Amino acid sequence: MKWKKQILSLTPYQPGRSIDQVKRQYGLDKIVKLASNENPFGCSQKVADRIEKLSFALYPDGYATGLRESLSQHLKVDSGQLIFGNGSDELIMMISRALLKPGTNTVMAAPTFPQYKHNAVIEGSDVKEVPLINGAHDLDGMLAAIDENTAVVWVCSPNNPTGAYIKDGALRSFVQQVPKDVLIVLDEAYYEYVDAEDYYDSISLIESFENLIVLRTFSKIYGLASFRSGYGIAQKTIIDALEPVREPFNLNSLAQAASIAALEDQKFIQNCKKANREGLKLYYKFCEKHNLSYYPSQGNFILIDFGLDGNDVFQYLLERGYIVRSGQALGFPTSVRITVGSTEQNEEIIEKLEMMVTENSIKKAL
Ligand SMILES: *Cc1c(COP(=O)(O)O)cnc(C)c1O
Repeated sequence: MKWKKQILSLTPYQPGRSIDQVKRQYGLDKIVKLASNENPFGCSQKVADRIEKLSFALYPDGYATGLRESLSQHLKVDSGQLIFGNGSDELIMMISRALLKPGTNTVMAAPTFPQYKHNAVIEGSDVKEVPLINGAHDLDGMLAAIDENTAVVWVCSPNNPTGAYIKDGALRSFVQQVPKDVLIVLDEAYYEYVDAEDYYDSISLIESFENLIVLRTFSKIYGLASFRSGYGIAQKTIIDALEPVREPFNLNSLAQAASIAALEDQKFIQNCKKANREGLKLYYKFCEKHNLSYYPSQGNFILIDFGLDGNDVFQYLLERGYIVRSGQALGFPTSVRITVGSTEQNEEIIEKLEMMVTENSIKKAL
């Protein structure tokens, strides 16, 4: 076969272990998954009511008309300024497919969300990774890395896996300096969790910059990860250029209906945001008590450096019924990323972590 040769060097996405697998392997009857930044409170009750009434035999609305109208009102943007994806993952793929090819390069932070690099490699583009500084994007370093062959620059804010965000002034100045023919992708998967006062208003930035697209998702605070629903917001010229790359029926009917219903229940979103803030405080307190370094997070997860092999911490928690993400796979080998759960889940996992750190060594604890 005449495969693209770069595909042969890639590994497929490694899904975390399923709850059922872990239950069986360790003989546990309760498992708490805090590994993928899903919403511990599920989704709005309105979602279940709405999707019951759908006809499954018909193709979905390829223009997502209802969701488009709801979102354009919610965000106060024109309906032509939106594009939908089978999760924002698919938008990352569409952008890469539309702009990246051999001879181009793309600039991103490292470590950051891995799908930017993965898709760039598939398209045969060079990847320029600019190391984070204290968990945050080095925007000056990223500007310096942009050259005449750069097609896309990726900015993840709040950044996964550190939770660091970019301040208003810094982002504005960055966006102003990026050449107009380079697409800036601002991935805001955790936007709804942000409470920093000096966070920028990305929607207003879109009005001034024709080379900016903002990505958001229904997978995180909206609690609809299984439906695969994400969207991009940009000036119409960018949306129009990307539309031919989109599969005609990429957003299925269930995802469309569920997203509309979820959007209507902003009370639920505010409650989740508040609970997340409270949850984060518990982890901060734990870290400070034990002198563990962590990044203050604007997302619904926290990266904690235990000074131990992240895989060992992962294993320790797994055997006690908690699935988290080892920092080994995230570029932080001595850390673990934990999704903020419900109050009860946070208290329980912190209790296990207390036991782990007060043991003399993790080996003894294991
Ligand atoms: C979870 C996540 C996504 C993917 O979201 P989907 O809409 O579920 O594909 C994109 N970017 C970042 C930074 C994420 O953490």
